[in-house]
Amino acid sequence: MRRALAALVLAVAVLGACDRAPETHREQAFVLGTLVEITAAGAGEEELSEAAGAAFREMRAIHNALTPTEEGNLLADFNSAAPGEWVALEGPLTGLLPRALAVQRASDNTFSPHLGRLVGLWGFREPPLPEEPPAESAVEGLLEEGAGAEALELRRDNGLEARMARPGAALDLGGIAKGYAVDRAATVLKEHGVDNALINAGGDLRALGARGDRPWRIGIRDPRDRERVLAVVALRDGEAIVTSGDYERSFTHDGRRYHHLLDPDTGRPARRARQATVLGPRATETDAWSTALFVAGTRGLERLGPRQPGLVIDAEGRAHANAAMKERLDWRAEGMPAP
Ligand code: ADP
Ligand code: MG
Repeated sequence: MRRALAALVLAVAVLGACDRAPETHREQAFVLGTLVEITAAGAGEEELSEAAGAAFREMRAIHNALTPTEEGNLLADFNSAAPGEWVALEGPLTGLLPRALAVQRASDNTFSPHLGRLVGLWGFREPPLPEEPPAESAVEGLLEEGAGAEALELRRDNGLEARMARPGAALDLGGIAKGYAVDRAATVLKEHGVDNALINAGGDLRALGARGDRPWRIGIRDPRDRERVLAVVALRDGEAIVTSGDYERSFTHDGRRYHHLLDPDTGRPARRARQATVLGPRATETDAWSTALFVAGTRGLERLGPRQPGLVIDAEGRAHANAAMKERLDWRAEGMPAP
């Protein structure tokens, strides 16, 4: 439990204590392996509680379908198909796989939705965390079988079908599923009449509407001093902000930090950044891009495109923002304690 609680230290802080705020209500639930919070402004307590309940159920269903389990589920069934065999896509896989593939290509394979065997080898999938890295030869063996390279193919026949072209690859949607769940939760809240809310799923956030007459404001934390907010961003209606960091799931061995964000080229934890933050119109793609930007490091800022804000804290702790992010960051928060 202590471990689980430690994992709840969020990459971002939701600010607002000093505003003249409208009445807000907050609902929390442990879903998607993290504490998810939904804060609503202007909605009644009962209305929010019902809407948030429906949103949490939707998120739980997505998590259950897309997190590999031993008993089998949508993702496990897909992965158990023989390499090269076309599989008809069902449920959330239908919408999600084409979007995951699109980010993989646009990010030059720094975001890869099929690192399943490497993620399994490293043992980051579920607690407890490993105490040491796997044997070099095991990582090399998987890379030789194509575990890091592009392997997923899609075709539209009767419906959408997909196959894994290489035996070394297995689907792992850990870098995008949480964002997708946040987007689905946003839709469910709106369907329940909640138009002004902030969804925070342990570092994947999306805003709906505003907090009274102010926007929802988000503090980006220092990756090495989690009490310290580096800068603040005001979110627009519908906007998502996602942060990936090397402190989320990590262990230290022989003085070296090993974490859960793998570089598909090396099959090992990416070393170019400590933290990456991306803003975008949907949490799904924003989640995938934050993983991609983390893996690529500073040079990944160029790939984001001129209108997609990105911030990298590099391996030496220096902050690099692209032009679109510079317009959005308020650095006056420096030194401000996180709530
Ligand atoms: P967090 O879960 O901490 O918010 P991310 O959203 O960045 O972080 O996703 C991390 C998860 O994504 C890992 O646990 C793993 O399942 C998967 N993953 C690791 N490396 C990559 C990568 N290069 N591309 C896509 N997914 C990855
Ligand atoms: Mg991600």
